[in-house]
Amino acid sequence: MIQDGEVGGGSAPTLWAVAAVSDAAVAALSTSLDELESLSRFDSAAAAERAEQALVTARELGLVEFELRAQLVQADLVRRRGNVSEAGRVAQDVRRWATEHDSRHLLARSHYLLAAVFQELGDLSAALENAVQAIDLLDDDAVPALRIDHLARLADCLGLQGDLGARERYAEVLQLAEEQGDVDRQLLVLNNRSYVEMLAGEFETALGLATRLQTLAGEHGVALSIGRLDTVARALMGLGRLAEAEEVLLPGRSPEVLDASPDGDAGADFLLTLAEIQRRQGRVAQAQATLDECVARCEANGLTSIRVRARREQAELHAAGGHFEAAFTEHKLYSQEALDLQSAQRDARARALQAMYETTEARRQSRRYRELSLRDPLTGLYNRRYVDEQFPRLLEAIAGRDEAVSVALLDLDHFKRVNDTFSHDVGDQVLRIVADLLEQATPDADTGGSFAARMGGEEFLLVLVGADPRTAADQLEQVRRSVATHPWGELVPGLPVTVSAGLASSVGVLAPALAELLGRADAHLYRAKRQGRDRVVGDPG
Ligand code: GH3
Ligand code: MG
Ligand code: MG
Repeated sequence: MIQDGEVGGGSAPTLWAVAAVSDAAVAALSTSLDELESLSRFDSAAAAERAEQALVTARELGLVEFELRAQLVQADLVRRRGNVSEAGRVAQDVRRWATEHDSRHLLARSHYLLAAVFQELGDLSAALENAVQAIDLLDDDAVPALRIDHLARLADCLGLQGDLGARERYAEVLQLAEEQGDVDRQLLVLNNRSYVEMLAGEFETALGLATRLQTLAGEHGVALSIGRLDTVARALMGLGRLAEAEEVLLPGRSPEVLDASPDGDAGADFLLTLAEIQRRQGRVAQAQATLDECVARCEANGLTSIRVRARREQAELHAAGGHFEAAFTEHKLYSQEALDLQSAQRDARARALQAMYETTEARRQSRRYRELSLRDPLTGLYNRRYVDEQFPRLLEAIAGRDEAVSVALLDLDHFKRVNDTFSHDVGDQVLRIVADLLEQATPDADTGGSFAARMGGEEFLLVLVGADPRTAADQLEQVRRSVATHPWGELVPGLPVTVSAGLASSVGVLAPALAELLGRADAHLYRAKRQGRDRVVGDPG
């Protein structure tokens, strides 16, 4: 069978014991995630525990990107344990976040997981698309193990589709694994390529690869897992070399080896192959005993699809024993169950896909609601809550980048007159237009950190990131002028509309507190009003 995971995997030192020192903690977490991502093929309890620890640490340190990397590792483990749709859901969510935040590594990793998910759901073209993306997006300096994994997944997707391009891909990835001296990955690639050749009916080629697989494993004292023994045996079986095939399977016959795969399916698959080999050599009774063992395993572990294939083998066995009626009955059962299985698999596939998209849709909605709760309904500008939530983060971010920030409080002059002379509704329209003019002053609101907000009533806030205090003052003066010179005549004939503004800028590298900046801006605003309105007052100097 095509394999992408095995039990095992080493344990690494728990590096985050040094979390007291923040820099060291971040570096340790980063190393740990690199390791986990290249280890993630190993489905072991230790890996799950380490991923959980990484997740908790990332959360404590407030490092979202690291947190999501850990989540992807966990999701991959969840997928291997059979919960494909949950894995797909996480991968979709992470992919969305990575797109929004331009995180290439996370994008590459989520596409990699999605490729596996779609492969398991039987949607090979979606799998292929994601596998291609997973490679395109991988950084040139990514860990070699990751490059190998991503390339191998693409080769698997191509191979399962019967695409000849798979050969070239497998050759490329095998060479990479050899260069790295990565025996484990060499074995994986040889196994998968042999299996794909076997599917294509190229038994000679499949056997050549299977032999290399055996030799390499022998050289490094690695015992072949039953899944891999099965690959070798099937290549031999395809060439009619039954006795040799049976001999290959011999080391897998012990119960400990058979029980090694967590859901028991590798064991059942192995027994089915063995039963077929025994039957084809004419040892019907022995084949029957092996098949019974296989069926017992299927039933104990709920392995529906192998159970169905076992019926077909049972029909063959009845026929080989001369029991044609029993063979016929069993074959009818096989046909019916194969059909049922097909439609059950289709349903499961549809449900899994549905679940993946439903949850992301729900999340999208809740993000939209959250976003709405941070907006002022009248003007569409950010509201006070947004300022309180975002501003401290913004200050932290720019302190790290050594950038200046200016904040301006703007208040409409004699706004009460607008309401009194015209109407509250006209007043609202004036507020909307002023909001538009402010928004135009922060064209890079989405990327640069600058933004406009309505603090309440006829009072607004403008945050300008990156500009030195003098430039900020110039920008604000432009805003003031754009309000004063706006053609208001039609909306409020005879009444000027102007704003007064108080401007405060950060000084030096130390990030000031929001309250301190706002307090200073407010004092300047008060002065602007006192000095006659329609003006900007800033820090002296
Ligand atoms: P000053 O130049 O000193 O700021 O004078 P002002 O009239 O603008 O100041 P004051 O604080 O006395 O009045 C503000 C007015 O803004 C009072 C209130 O009715 C009006 N206002 C507050 N929010 C809204 C709103 O959402 N829509 C409308 N139309 N008016 C509002
Ligand atoms: Mg006011
Ligand atoms: Mg006012």
